[in-house]
Amino acid sequence: MNANAPKVGFVSLGCPKALVDSERILTQLRAEGYKLVPTYQDADLVVVNTCGFIDAAVEESLESIGEALAENGRVIVTGCLGAKEEVIRERHPQVLKITGPQAYEDVVGAVHEHLPPSHDPFTSLVPPQGVKLTPRHYAYLKISEGCNHRCTFCIIPAMRGDLASRPIGDVLDEAERLAKAGVKELLVISQDTSAYGVDLKYRTGFWRGRPVKTRMTELCSALGELGIWVRLHYVYPYPHVDEIIPLMADGKILPYLDVPLQHASPRVLKAMRRPASAQSNLQRIKAWREICPEIAIRSTFIVGFPGETEAEFEELLGFLEEARLDRVGCFKYSPVEGAQANELADPVPEEVKDERLERFMTLQASISAEKQRAKIGSVQTVLIDEITEDGAIGRTKADAPEIDGLVHIATAGLRGGEFVSVRISDADEYDLWGEAAVQ
Ligand code: SF4
Repeated sequence: MNANAPKVGFVSLGCPKALVDSERILTQLRAEGYKLVPTYQDADLVVVNTCGFIDAAVEESLESIGEALAENGRVIVTGCLGAKEEVIRERHPQVLKITGPQAYEDVVGAVHEHLPPSHDPFTSLVPPQGVKLTPRHYAYLKISEGCNHRCTFCIIPAMRGDLASRPIGDVLDEAERLAKAGVKELLVISQDTSAYGVDLKYRTGFWRGRPVKTRMTELCSALGELGIWVRLHYVYPYPHVDEIIPLMADGKILPYLDVPLQHASPRVLKAMRRPASAQSNLQRIKAWREICPEIAIRSTFIVGFPGETEAEFEELLGFLEEARLDRVGCFKYSPVEGAQANELADPVPEEVKDERLERFMTLQASISAEKQRAKIGSVQTVLIDEITEDGAIGRTKADAPEIDGLVHIATAGLRGGEFVSVRISDADEYDLWGEAAVQ
């Protein structure tokens, strides 16, 4: 690397989708000869990739911009909050430039404007798989941007626009490059994975010289040929999701499905403008488990949505009890500026939201603990994420990085990024403990 290379600091906030955006921007900057530095002091300029999904994220983003300004002074802002320039300018009028989500060229253009690239031919040598912010053995694979739904609590479509799927050939080429570069697990992400290709009318693309439709089922089947873990996130429970369960049963993709269900009361789901009913979701989950008993289902829910009555909340608890999901996240409803749900009548008081969240989490903790206990004595395939003083930490097929549980392995000599068979000896409601099983 050229010692005189212009130096950029990067702060990446928000969800995995934002992380993928950051990776793209960084890959481009590296390819152009910029040096990425880990401290504000070493940077000639700082890019902050923000999140604007909920009020807490907006505040965190504004604070991070403030910190970067105080520590460095030359700041470019991008990402979801970039769509609301006035909110940023009001608090931080001195930022150099603000660009919105998905605006890779604009961010890179802003960096060129305020910190021109140097011209060292060697710095254009960037690994073909790009620069990854995630550990080398797993990577996020973004298949589309935006969303065609209009859930009343969400402003993502307003910020990111309607669904725009990436061509299937590009997605599969990227996945193949990552696998060749040593990635062992791909996390497929988007706002709505099951809608992949709808906007392109499932257009036929090409991969490895053969035609492949731009559609979730075909995508999963092709990804299953790479021989690495493939994990699906943000899968809306459309009927055609049933088509990918046999791929899980056959070991082609991981038996893991992240399906955000949000609620179980038909009235609340309607007010949220979510399709599907709790009843059909239950039937579908039952059918999935019949085809692939190993499947781990993750979901997220919102409690305290405007107008949610005690009876409707209890309906949700009843659903939870029956569905016995493996991994569950729950959020208290919080109004997001610009969301339609803000106009709904009967907001639920904060203390009621708190109490419902606690009841929800207590119930799910007992379900999770029971499910985890059932794994004691079993041998699980674990992907090692990290080596520690006591051994290693990894994840089973049922655990996505960052959001699910961990396996603590009391065995020395393991390596990050390797698959190990682990005999499970203990469990709590999130994590597992064990030792490498002798093969
Ligand atoms: S499906 Fe709903 S919650 Fe998810 S991004 Fe689209 S509008 Fe937002």
